[in-house]
Amino acid sequence: MSKKPRRNVQRFVRKVALPKSDLLDKLSHAAGQLYTQTLVAYWRILRKTGTGKNGRTPVFLSPYGMEKLLPSDPDKLLHSHTCDAVVGNFYASIKSANERKKQGCKDAKYPRRRKWFYKITWKSSGIRLKDGYLTLSTGKGVENLVVPWVHDLPTMVEIGWKKTGGYELRAVYEVGAIQALGDGVAAIDQGELRTATVYDGEKATIYSGRLVKSKSRYRAKVIAKLDAKIARTRKGNGKQPSSRRRKKLIRAKRRVTRQIDHQIRDIQHKQSSHLVSTLHNQGVQTVVIGDIRDIRKSMQYGPKANQPLHNWSFGKFRQMITYKAERLGMQVTLMDEAYTSQTCPACTNRKKPSGRLYACKCGFVCDRDAVGSMNIRAKYLGTFGRPVVGVMSPPVRGVRYRPQFSRHLALNTPRTPCL
Ligand SMILES: [Zn+2]
Repeated sequence: MSKKPRRNVQRFVRKVALPKSDLLDKLSHAAGQLYTQTLVAYWRILRKTGTGKNGRTPVFLSPYGMEKLLPSDPDKLLHSHTCDAVVGNFYASIKSANERKKQGCKDAKYPRRRKWFYKITWKSSGIRLKDGYLTLSTGKGVENLVVPWVHDLPTMVEIGWKKTGGYELRAVYEVGAIQALGDGVAAIDQGELRTATVYDGEKATIYSGRLVKSKSRYRAKVIAKLDAKIARTRKGNGKQPSSRRRKKLIRAKRRVTRQIDHQIRDIQHKQSSHLVSTLHNQGVQTVVIGDIRDIRKSMQYGPKANQPLHNWSFGKFRQMITYKAERLGMQVTLMDEAYTSQTCPACTNRKKPSGRLYACKCGFVCDRDAVGSMNIRAKYLGTFGRPVVGVMSPPVRGVRYRPQFSRHLALNTPRTPCL
């Protein structure tokens, strides 16, 4: 089974203008000198080795070799990682020119120009944030660069010359770390009509509870029928044993209920295996299950007679998911599901859904159970009850129990038949 990492790192850049200063001029010139040295060394080595004379092969000095050859700028003004970045930038432009040439672009330009000034780059190792100041480390020969800073600590900082004059600081943030908050977290909303509705942050998957429901209805019917028959037979007391018919009926009741219970359990096993293996294949690490052990939810189920079985069947399914997920190294958490079925994921307005669809006045329309699982997930992530701009209703697909849904199939192929 292959785990698919769903991390897509997005970049976000914050730009700040900086006034011209001697220190920036010095640093920028130092970067320019190092860049020029890199450029000259690269082309010179290539020219000296690769004329094709004497059968020599040209030497394209690698970035690693270049960093060894030019470990720092001439005046040692730059942080060592800034020096690496300058060399890295030169090689990046070589690479992009190569790629453009490969694509058939005729004016793919290789870096040839010497530079007096060049942008200064700081990697995370050279950036510190303390007491509202961003400290950018430099080499031993010069003081650190300190900039007043009211924002978060960036992952990377670049300072370059602005065309309109002065310098510009570009603080680069990798948003992947923030997105990773919800990465690998899936939520499950348990219900009656739908055994489980799973929301993984992108889509909602519904596991139908229709068959379990009809089986448990049939079970209740059979029990009621047999109970009525049993009541008409003679019950044993101290003197007389129970009638033969009574014993027979009681045995029959036990046999039939056991049979139906086994059928229900079988369906639940297949559905839970399918659910857990699908999540595992997606790289989900945390499974959040809505806790339905409170009164509010059980009140919706009408006649009291149905409750014990439903509660039993919900609890059983939750247990199956829990141990199967934990067996695969996933973490399972219960989450209080108060208001999760009533709150709009987009604008947090509360409203009791009347049908299968949840439609909010803000325009958000989604399957009712999918809303429940979206909100359970939001509760776990701590974003529940906060309005989200532009939240989309997830695509909903259904998984229906089918007899050929064998355990083997469920564990190996995350293929989902449509409802
Ligand atoms: Zn709304």
